[in-house]
Formats: sequence, C-alpha cells, structure tokens
Amino acid sequence: MSEQMSVSRATFDEVMVPNYNPAAIIPVRGQGARVWDQEGKEYVDFAGGIAVNVLGHCHPALVSALKEQGEKLWHLSNTMTNEPALRLAKKLTDATFAERIYYANSGAEANEAAFKLARRYALDHFGAGKDQIISFNKSFHGRTFFTVTVGGQAAYSDGFGPKPGAIDHLDFNDLAGLEALISDKTCAVIMEPMQGEGGIIPAEQAFIEGVRALCDKHNALLVFDEVQTGMGRSGYLYAYQKYGVTPDILTSAKSLGGGFPIGAMLTTAKIAASLKVGTHGSTYGGNPLACAVAEAVMDVVNTPEVLDGVKQREAWFREHLAAINAKYDVFKEVRGMGMLLGAVLSDKYQGRARDFLTAAVDEQLMVLVAGMDVVRFAPSLVISEADIKEGMARFERAVAKVAAA
Ligand SMILES: *Cc1c(COP(=O)(O)O)cnc(C)c1O
Repeated sequence: MSEQMSVSRATFDEVMVPNYNPAAIIPVRGQGARVWDQEGKEYVDFAGGIAVNVLGHCHPALVSALKEQGEKLWHLSNTMTNEPALRLAKKLTDATFAERIYYANSGAEANEAAFKLARRYALDHFGAGKDQIISFNKSFHGRTFFTVTVGGQAAYSDGFGPKPGAIDHLDFNDLAGLEALISDKTCAVIMEPMQGEGGIIPAEQAFIEGVRALCDKHNALLVFDEVQTGMGRSGYLYAYQKYGVTPDILTSAKSLGGGFPIGAMLTTAKIAASLKVGTHGSTYGGNPLACAVAEAVMDVVNTPEVLDGVKQREAWFREHLAAINAKYDVFKEVRGMGMLLGAVLSDKYQGRARDFLTAAVDEQLMVLVAGMDVVRFAPSLVISEADIKEGMARFERAVAKVAAA
C-alpha cells in the first residue's frame, strides 16, 4: 500500500471551500463516546457528530452491518429495489404511524421531498392555489434552497437570488398567530417537535395539539421535521410519540444512520400516492449500504433497554449540570428531552456559547452550541455513566475557566 500523505488543519485552508471553520484538532479515531485526534489526544464526545452518532462511534452492531453489506452489494439505483431498504421500511412502518417510506441521503433532502409532496397532494386533492407553507421562526430544515427558505432564519437564505415563494413564518409556540394566518390556501405546516438548531426549544403541548387541530380544520398537512429529535433521541423512537400528536408526514435523518448518510420521509399510503412514478427521485436514495446500517441502528435503538436508558441518562446529565450550575451560576435553565439537551446561558453570559465550546475542547470535551446562548449536548444514547461523569468533570473545568475569565 502506498504511504498516505500527511495533512493538517492548515491543509483545510489550502484546499477546502471556506464555508466551515473547523476546530484546530483533526480527529482520526472514535470508540463509543471517546474520540482521538492526530496527536493521540483523547476527547469525551457529548456532541455525537451533531446529533448523528446515536450509538457512539464504531458500535459493533453497526460496524458488522456495514462490513457484511459492504461485501454483498453497495448500490443499485432505483431501477431495482433491495432487501435492506425493504426491511428498514417494514420496521419503520411497523414502529410508527407511517405506511409508506421514501429514502433520501440527508435531512434536507427528506424535507425537500416532504414539501414537494405536500404541494402535490394539495394540487391533486384541492386544485391550484392551495400552496402556502407555514413554518416557524428559528426553525431549521436544511440547506437546499427550498428547505433553507422554509427554515426560520432569513440570513441563511438571503443572497442567493429569488427565493421559492408562498412560504410564511410565525413565532414558535404562537398558536393565536397560526390561527390568524392559516387558511384553506395552506397546504402544509412544518415544525420540529423541539427546535434543535434554534436553541433546544420544545413545542408546548397545547401548541402542538392546537397545530394539529388547525391543520385538520383547513385540510393542511402537518409535517414534523424529526431529523434531529428522531430515532430515540427524545427517549421515544420519535418525539411525536412523546407528545401523542401524529403528523401526516415525518422526516428523519441524522441519528437514523448512526453516522452513515441517510434520510427518510415517512407518510401515509393516501398521501404517498401523490408522488407517482417519475415525480421525484434520488440516485442514492435507498442505497443498500445506508439502509443496512440504518436497519442495525433501528434494531438496537428501538428497544425498551435503550429508550428507557435515554431517560436515565437525561437524569444523570441534568444532575451534573445542576451541580455545576450551583457552583458557577452560569445557566438560566436546562431544557430539552432525552439525549438532546440545552443549557441556556444566564444573562451575564449572553452571546458566549462558543466560549464554552472552545473551553471544553481545551479540556478534551466535545459539546455543541445551538445559537449564541445555548450549550447543546447530543451524545450517544448508550454513553456509559462513567463517560458522563468524566465528561462532566471536564465540562466543569471549562465552565470554571469561562467564569473566571
Ligand atoms: C440537521 C437538520 C436538518 C438538515 O439535515 P442535513 O442532513 O444536514 O441535510 C433538517 N432539519 C433539522 C431539524 C435538522 O436538525
């Protein structure tokens, strides 16, 4: 085998498009909730690849699914179906409200399919003119031009020319606002059951129930973007099950592949019928490798041991964070559900979430931010109590540094 060339963080600035600004370290290996960088320095991972590595790094069930499928069949295209795609679809439909599955490669693509389907379904059943999509401020639905325009941060869609139209935004949890805006021209309301990128903001129970009722009243489809909250992260397979409010379309990605790129759109047979042959597609959607890994993720996650374990881990996280806060008084609130938690910075530290992230990396801990005021945690659902303890000891040192600065 030829010798591998050596690369460093400096190489990034020489060869990569500058749309990201990655940390100074380059991780090379991961196992469970630990990661090692080029220098062999070890980190505790509370970030999970931005809520993706739902079973940590190199979980044996996922590695073995990947290896096994990797020696069988990698790709076919949608001119033929394949066994892993069908088995995964069967498991997803058995475990949820859904009766039909569409595969994509990412969250944005799953949402793109959902929005196109909602528009087409409205056209099929109610005629032209029912095309309004209602979304919420601070929501995040991906970076394709349609999905980023539906998302609730105009800054992300500004500067790229004319935007897709008939999209309106309201404040999250503002039911009266929705009641005033929604009409028979609305084809879909799209929401995250808990806003992730927007700051770990759960939907209020009355709001999510009210949205469902208003959608029913106006024949609008309710789309839940569970790209971040889905696949066990909330302590339920999908967060809608926690709320007891069922959407018409649900999108899943991130944790679904446990680190392998895959997205899925889940819906009913009646709604799915509007995506007839030829109306939408993707070269890689339903790729056997991706589906084999996601099937293994689903087999492990959708068990009482793992889902109940998430609730236990949430309690441990909250205890540690409360103890740290009792000493340093840096958080206003810890909110979220399951293994998707946000520590909201108190007024004194407004806008400084990134300082906590940077201090954490210095202490060999990976965390996330959600906006400028929230430190976000999205670790493995099976992270050990010992790893949580060690990670929190490191987080306390990081907090102490920021508080003393
Ligand atoms: C990450 C995310 C997306 C986009 O997923 P990609 O795989 O990056 O395209 C969409 N919606 C939500 C809620 C997300 O958190």
